[in-house]
Amino acid sequence: MPASDKPSRSALRRTLGLVRPHLRGHGPVMAGGVVALLFEVVFRVLEPWPLKFVIDALTRSLGADLAGTGPTASLRLLLLAGAATVAIVGLRALANYLATVAFALAGSRVATALRARVFGHVARLSRRFHATSRSGDLVQRLIADVGRLQEVAVTAGLPMLANLVTLVAMTVVMFFLDWLLAVVVIVAAATFALTSRTSTSKITTASRRTRQAEGDLANIAQETVGAISVVQAYGLERHLGDRFQGSNAKSLRDGVKSKRLAAGLERRTDLLIGIATATVLVFGGWRVMTLNMTPGDLVIFTTYLKTAMKPLRDMAKYTGRIARATASGERVADVLDVEPEIRPVGAPRRVPALTGALRFSGVTVRFQKRHEAVSDIDLEIVPGERVAFVGHSGSGKSTLASLVPRLIDPSEGVVLADGMDLRTLDIDFLRSQVALVQQEAVLFSGSVMDNIRMGRLDATDEEVMDAARAARAHDFIMAMPDGYQHLVGERGGTLSGGQRQRISIARALLRDAPIVVLDEVTTGLDGDNADAVLAAIETLTKGRTTIVVTHDDQVAAACDWVFRLERGRVVWQGAGDAFLGSRRG
Ligand code: ADP
Ligand code: MG
Repeated sequence: MPASDKPSRSALRRTLGLVRPHLRGHGPVMAGGVVALLFEVVFRVLEPWPLKFVIDALTRSLGADLAGTGPTASLRLLLLAGAATVAIVGLRALANYLATVAFALAGSRVATALRARVFGHVARLSRRFHATSRSGDLVQRLIADVGRLQEVAVTAGLPMLANLVTLVAMTVVMFFLDWLLAVVVIVAAATFALTSRTSTSKITTASRRTRQAEGDLANIAQETVGAISVVQAYGLERHLGDRFQGSNAKSLRDGVKSKRLAAGLERRTDLLIGIATATVLVFGGWRVMTLNMTPGDLVIFTTYLKTAMKPLRDMAKYTGRIARATASGERVADVLDVEPEIRPVGAPRRVPALTGALRFSGVTVRFQKRHEAVSDIDLEIVPGERVAFVGHSGSGKSTLASLVPRLIDPSEGVVLADGMDLRTLDIDFLRSQVALVQQEAVLFSGSVMDNIRMGRLDATDEEVMDAARAARAHDFIMAMPDGYQHLVGERGGTLSGGQRQRISIARALLRDAPIVVLDEVTTGLDGDNADAVLAAIETLTKGRTTIVVTHDDQVAAACDWVFRLERGRVVWQGAGDAFLGSRRG
């Protein structure tokens, strides 16, 4: 993800682009919100008018000829003005309530949809992306940044819109009352708009840094908690604590900076409003004295100035909030901009089932620009055959194996199944035809039953248990207190390595796929466990095209065909029987 630090003008535009596709369908709610908002503005504009009538009437009653013609003060007029004030304030509160609810509703719905879109997008990105992305930061973007967007839409976007409309409406009314004074307001608003621009972009930059530092925090916290036993065994608590504190302090510094900038903008606006008020006071008083305006008009003016300028001041506050939100919006947009690498070529094809014939033709995979993880591989696997990939660590075995379920696509060359380029196949179909088991057996928090069922979500309990039996997992599962309902901790922390591995083999068995890929499944297991896992593998791979990545010569020798890799190239191949001989030679 390009985490650029320079302020970009397009931050707001990108953020709006992010939410725009999700606004569709919320039209009625949003329209209702806008109507309520307009009503609120109308009532805001009306609010000081009863006061004006009372003051002008009082002025007349007192005998001054400043207030033009009109009724004089009476109890009836005063009561009427009081009632009008209460009605206006009440209706304004109602309109505000309705607008807030409508915007909150639309905001939450949009945020929910956006979050779902980002999640789906992230889950589809390739190994290449996830190998280098930082998961804590990614989670932070998905949860906190999207949440911030939603919150700001309601706490800043809505009031800002209302303020803008209010400002315009009040300016129009003021023009009718006295154009000279209205000009003062316009000059003040324009000055604000000009002075706030630089502050806003600085606030966005500082906020972006804060969010970055918070992403770092999430990463360090996640890595530490995820590897707590290594952290404690190696005494890394203090070292990681220092790193955490470093990011923590950075986030604090930048956070304070953006708050300081926002506060500065607000106070400068206060000053501006003060000057504008003073001008109106002097000019307006003089206009009343020269009979160009009534005292009531002056009251309207000063109230409007306060009400119209308060929005202006709030704008300073909201600009800060919105600047922070667009920093979040950019982070989310950055994630969405990562192009999914695994894309179909043409219309995705589905066939009833694959036979399991695989061919690699001129396959090269690069992770970084020049470094080739595997280079120009040509090999063929016949349906039902069991082949082994052997070779030193880093020789490209896993890379080659991960091409089959398209966890990654070749940089050059093609991988074919039954003569069809994998990229032309429907990705869900292809993956349903491949069962992958990796060295690190991955379990999710939930019951053992759920974990096995992830191989095929519509499997019945009986099918799950059959798979577990075939994977030699049934007995140890039944020995656990809750049996199949036993809850495994995050990443299977409550089970032994061999047990985890057999559960993941049961999961692969349940998939009943014609192609099986086993990546160092027995590596790191002790004798007994390895034997049980090997027996389970035997069942899993019977009659299926199987790719076994292994360090174990015996396991390789038991395969039909062996490919030995070195630095991304096949340096030897031959029948399993000949493999051990080749090792000695
Ligand atoms: P093996 O499984 O044989 O140990 P791999 O296929 O995992 O080897 O790796 C082959 C080469 O590709 C290694 O040099 C490794 O550093 C590199 N590599 C593997 N995965 C990535 C990745 N996601 N990003 C960058 N380089 C990678
Ligand atoms: Mg490997």
